This record gives sequence, structure tokens and C-alpha cells, in this order.
Amino acid sequence: MNNISINSKKKIIFYLLVFQIAFVFLIVRVFFIQSINAEEYQKMAYEQQTRDRLIAPKRGEIVDRNGNVIATNESVYSISVINSQIEDSEKVATVLSEKLDLKYEDVIKKVNKKVALERIKTKVPKETADEIRNLNLAGVMVDEDIKRIYPNNNMASQVIGFVGKDNQGIIGLEAKYDEYLKGKQGKILTETDARGVELKNGIQERVAPTNGYTLVTSLDINMQKYAEQTLEKVVEAKGAKRGSIILMNPQNGEIYAMANKPDFNLNEPFTINNEDLKANWENMSQKDKNDALNQMWRNFSINDTYEPGSTFKVMTSAMGLEEGIVTPDSHFNCSGGKTVAGRYIKCWRSPRSHGSQTFTQGVQNSCNPVFMEIGESLGADKFYEYMEKFGFNEKTGVDLPGEAVGIMHKKENVGPVELATMSFGQSFQITPLQLLRAISSVINGGELVTPHFGTKIIDENGNVIETFNYEKGNTTVSKETSEQMKVILESVVSEGTGNKTYIPGFRIGGKTATSEKLPRKSGKYIASFCAFAPAENPQVIALVLVDEPQGIYYGGQVAGPVMKELLENVLPYMKIDKVYNEKELDIEETREIVVPNLINMTVTEAKKMLSEEKITYEIDGSGDTVRTQFPPSDEVINFDGKIILYTN
Ligand SMILES: [Zn+2]
Repeated sequence: MNNISINSKKKIIFYLLVFQIAFVFLIVRVFFIQSINAEEYQKMAYEQQTRDRLIAPKRGEIVDRNGNVIATNESVYSISVINSQIEDSEKVATVLSEKLDLKYEDVIKKVNKKVALERIKTKVPKETADEIRNLNLAGVMVDEDIKRIYPNNNMASQVIGFVGKDNQGIIGLEAKYDEYLKGKQGKILTETDARGVELKNGIQERVAPTNGYTLVTSLDINMQKYAEQTLEKVVEAKGAKRGSIILMNPQNGEIYAMANKPDFNLNEPFTINNEDLKANWENMSQKDKNDALNQMWRNFSINDTYEPGSTFKVMTSAMGLEEGIVTPDSHFNCSGGKTVAGRYIKCWRSPRSHGSQTFTQGVQNSCNPVFMEIGESLGADKFYEYMEKFGFNEKTGVDLPGEAVGIMHKKENVGPVELATMSFGQSFQITPLQLLRAISSVINGGELVTPHFGTKIIDENGNVIETFNYEKGNTTVSKETSEQMKVILESVVSEGTGNKTYIPGFRIGGKTATSEKLPRKSGKYIASFCAFAPAENPQVIALVLVDEPQGIYYGGQVAGPVMKELLENVLPYMKIDKVYNEKELDIEETREIVVPNLINMTVTEAKKMLSEEKITYEIDGSGDTVRTQFPPSDEVINFDGKIILYTN
């Protein structure tokens, strides 16, 4: 022992101390497990021995600006089985397969599965669920569930979107606002033994689900319906591939309506809307099916780009005025075209020309050389600076998934020819919503707004949870340019190429466009019209697009009457009153014509009738009998409106 050094003694003491500390720690730990933390450990053990049955929360509603319901829920049920509790598996499988319209073989497989809980069918209607519940079959569970329903079926389908199997948003507003709408699942906890058998006196606990919040949108379902009815008519009458209409408040970006045709039924989003595809559906590959469905769900007002054509002349005009290159009275001369860098670029009126005209008349005539000249004076640098200011190089920020953005030449690749064609709206692509936003800034005093649908989130009692604020972007043009543009664009409708939209009493401004689709010379066009009213203080801006109309394809003639019909419904609905100017009061013929039904008449009979009524008409085709007509019968048109008779 004498050998033990002082150092060693110290070591022993040290180890004893360490041991004591460790021992104390263990005691504390045991005490901690038994008492302080007991609740948590018990809960863990409890959860191991319970079986959760989830309760779907009510998904928040989507409503329009006036509280009209656009998306809501229906109570449905889900049917499950608990294998260990089943007494007669054959009987259970027989009853469930009959009541739920399922194959017996599939059901019995699930019934015999040795799992705690097996789902047989979801979204079962209440009536069927009650029948099953009343049979009191041991081991069969009938639980609450939620099914999303859309009372207006096809209305605004590509905008609203729909939900998947578990009520999660898939596209549109349903996807964008899923976090707010979805709520939180609740559950029914049932205590079981280790084998999953429910304990005789086990605790049943119901944790209530938390319902989702309601999304209040800027949509107005009446305006949406006006837009859809008008659009559907023209798409059908013109045999067009598709069409779209957007109605927006140009002052703040609130979207009142966004219609696309064809559309689909939100209550059956996996049913294809195309008859040809439907007939062949079973033979299609899954990939082709998915592609077709994705195409059907596309919102081409924001997901697709197009060449805007002459509606873009609004931008070039604003650039010219803002930069002092032109005034409303500047003088131009159209000779039917203009030579740019050795290349002759035609006016749309070629081989005829617009001759001598003021800048304002040039806009009324939609004369291409006028805009080529402005483009030339601006130069590529300035032109691109404005393209950026007008937001064509960025997304609009609309609150929908999948927004596309403009496609433009790189500035360094823009020569005189590219600049000339861009000046009248060709050789670049933008989305319809980008155009609407840019034109809004020209007529609202120069503010680039953020187009949007969502305005606020409320709870079930109407308490506001969150209000969405949308930032205002660049200043695009001065107030002075904006004032001048409103006057010029009003004259396009009252005197120029937009006259098919003229409604006596309403001050409407606008611009038409006929875009030739790519590849050129394929004979495919997009007819469009962008208009706003009242011109002096615009409350609504609208864009009508008709993609691939058959027969006459000019924007003014195809989209013009559509815009007129739309505004004739929308402006009175918005309580915008007619105010006749002196000129209009002077014209006795502010009469309106109810279009007669001419279908199946001989061309001679139809001509005679229309001449007697002093109605202007045009005959398309060389047949003897009127096959279709536009506008359709009972439509009301202006006294100087025209009826087109198709005879082939
Ligand atoms: Zn011209």
C-alpha cells in the first residue's frame, strides 16, 4: 500500500466522485421517466396501441366578390374494415361489393387482409353509407369524409381548378391557395391490444378536424357567365379551335372574369371534353391520356403565349407619345408599305394604301407603316426599355400556377426589320394577360398593376384572417400620355377599325388585332379585340381572343361583335350609365335590330328580307341556301351592324 502514491489516491477519489455523479444522474433520470415525463411516455405507448381513423376537415370554400359560392363541400363517407373484428368475412364482402358496386373478388381480398384498418371505398354518398351502417356488420366502419363540389360545373374551370383524392388542390386557385383551404385532419383514436384488436373497455377519442379557410376572390360570377355565354357562341358559330375572354379592373388588377372555351366540368375533371378523344379513350396510352387532360386543363390566358398583332400598337403609340416622337396630329403617309433595310414590309391594306393621315387616324386605321416609323425613331434600345417597363419580360404575378412569360429576340439580334415588325406586334410572343396588364397601365395613368383573383381569406364566421395586398409595379407612361391614349383609342371604336364594338351612349376605347399564326401562310389566325370603358375613367378592360376562326378571321369583324355583346351586358350590370353625346342624339337611327332567323332560307329570300329591313349583310360561300348565320337569331345588334350568311 505504501506504493500508492499521492497521485493514485487522487485518482481513486476522482473515480469515486465520477461514479457518484453518474449514480445520482441515473436516479434523477428514473425519477424523470416515472413522473415528470410520464404523460408523454404514456402517450407514446397509447399511440402504439391505437389505430387512427382520419376525419377529413371541411375544405374552405371559394367564393366570388359578392359571396356567391364557387367551390364547396358535400358530406360523404368512407367505408373501411377491421380484419380482427370481422365475424363473417364472406357476408361482409358480399354486402359491401353489392352496396358499393365493387367486384366481390377485390373486396374479399381487402376484408381478409391482416392489417389494422383497410379502406374499401371513399366518397360514398350518405344514403348508401346509412344503409351500410344500419346493417351493423361487425368490423365494418363508416366514417365521415368530404367531397369537393362545384355548383356551377364548367364555370371558370381552368381558373378555379379542382382537388385530388385526398382533397388536395391540383390546378388553379385550388392549388395556389391550398395552404389556406385545406384545414387540418382530425382523427378517431381507438385503443387496441398489440394485435390490433379493439379493447373491450378501450378509450375512443375523437379529435375534431380544423376546417379550412374561405378564399374570397375578385371574380363576379355574373360577369363570368356573360363572358362564357358570349364566348361559347362565337367559338361555335365560327368553328374556332378555342377562345378566351378576360375582364379586369384596369385600376387595381382585380380580375372579374376569365373564360376559356372549350372548358371542362370541375365535378368530373378526368372526363375528357373532346368527343373524338372520348370515343377512342379506352385505346389510348396513359401518356396520351395525361397529355389530353393537361391540354384540357390549360388556362391559355396565362399558360400560353401568342403573337399579339395590332393590339400591341397601343404600346408603340404610347411609346411614341411619351418620347415626344409623335403627337395626336402628327402627319403620316401610307403608300401601302415601307422599305426597311432593303426589305419591303406591307401595310395590312396593301395593295391599297391609307394615304395621308394624322397619327390618330393611323391608329384608327391600324396602319402598319405608321408604327414602323415610330419603331425606327425609338430605336431598339428605347423599344426594349419600354418592353421591360410594360412588363413583357416578366410574369404578371397573377395568383395562378404555371404562368408563362413573353418570348422575345435578344436585343443584340434586333435589326431594323425585326424592330419594324415588332412595332406592329409581330415576331415576339406574350400571354394575353401580359397584354391586358400593359394596356391597363396605358389607360389608368401609367401604373402597372398586378392582375389577381385572391382578395382575402376569411374564417367560417366571416372574420378576416388575411387581406392580400398587391404591389403596383413600374410607372410605364405619364398621365398626359395616358389621357391622350384614351382619346385616341376611343376614336378607334367610334370611327376606326373597332367600330363593330361601338355602342351609342357608351364611351368605349379599344384596338383590334388579326394575328397570323406560325407557320405563316398556314391560313390560321387569332382574331382579338381589347376594349375598355368608360373611356375617360376606365372601370373595366376586356380582352376577347378567338383562336382559328373559320371563314372571316379579321379581329374587328370576328371579335368586335363579341366585344360589343359582352359590353352590352357587362356595362349596365356594372351600373355604368349610357350618356349620349350630341352626335349620337342627332342620329335618329340609334335603333337596334333583333337578328331574324335566316337559316334554311334560300339566299334570294334572305336577301329580300334583309333589304326590306334595311339590314346590312354579307354572303359567305356560293351555295343557294343559308346554312348558318352570324350573329345568331334573336341577338340584338346595332342599326349599322352586319349579318353574315354562310351558304356552304
Ligand atoms: Zn396603311
